[in-house]
Amino acid sequence: MLWKGRRQSDNVEDQRGQGGGLGGGSPGQFRIPIGGSSGGRMSLSSIIILGVIALIAWGVFGINPLQILNGGGGLMPGGGGQITDNSGSQDGGTGAPASDEMKQFVSTVLAETEDTWTGIFQSEGLTYENPKLVLFSGQIRSACGFASSAAGPFYCPGDRKAYLDTTFFQQLDQQFGASGDFAQAYVIAHEVGHHVQNLTGVLPKFNQMRQQMGEAESNQMSVRVELQADCFAGVWAHFTAQKGILEQGDMEEALNAAKQIGDDTMQKKMQGYVVPESFNHGTSQQRQTWLVRGYKSGKLSDCDTFNNPI
Ligand SMILES: [Zn+2]
Repeated sequence: MLWKGRRQSDNVEDQRGQGGGLGGGSPGQFRIPIGGSSGGRMSLSSIIILGVIALIAWGVFGINPLQILNGGGGLMPGGGGQITDNSGSQDGGTGAPASDEMKQFVSTVLAETEDTWTGIFQSEGLTYENPKLVLFSGQIRSACGFASSAAGPFYCPGDRKAYLDTTFFQQLDQQFGASGDFAQAYVIAHEVGHHVQNLTGVLPKFNQMRQQMGEAESNQMSVRVELQADCFAGVWAHFTAQKGILEQGDMEEALNAAKQIGDDTMQKKMQGYVVPESFNHGTSQQRQTWLVRGYKSGKLSDCDTFNNPI
């Protein structure tokens, strides 16, 4: 990615080396900027509303509209409303401070997401509110609670911040075999995708509903939420490509990352076997599919993971 010399976001909070700062904000206070858009085409607002309705229908009636295989067991759902993307890591690294260049890269990618999402929201008559991105090392306290690097990157709806220990990028490269700057950009764009879901109301609804869900059901809905964040990352990549700042091989890097952190690939690598009912992010195939879907069209209407087969 040709990122050098481009605008860097002011919304990166560098808390590396602080051993965990106090997260501001209070969970449960999310403004949902829906409205102001109409017309015959599938608008952002209608997608949002459909998504939320689908979530509600699913939660109230306990119906999985797509008859995904049900099963018991699996991983515990994440606590505190935190949307974690740890991908099964055992150790988040030593907490060594990342280089300044890394911070510059993260700030630039974040700025690119700000510009893209501001434009998309504007085109729907909505206002995009930028998220903060917290760089940390070792451990961190967010409005969603306490987290260590081992938990991987995550987004906390309660304080509208994405959290990233950049040693995860080393891990992505060395442990998961996903190298390249655009693999990293994909990770950032995915977390920003969760922020978009927070603004559209999908995330608050999901977090509310999964309190009443069993593990298997919660996992299945989590997969849809995660695949939509992948699709949103693809939408971002679509507009980034249009700016002419993608290099040859960039999308391949992102696609490889999506493959390497797919639930099935990850579980095979970490434990030698897969437990499908514990999947909560989607298989490698699913993650690649939705990333490509967003990338190809750049349209949010192609990211409705709640009303389509996944
Ligand atoms: Zn995620």
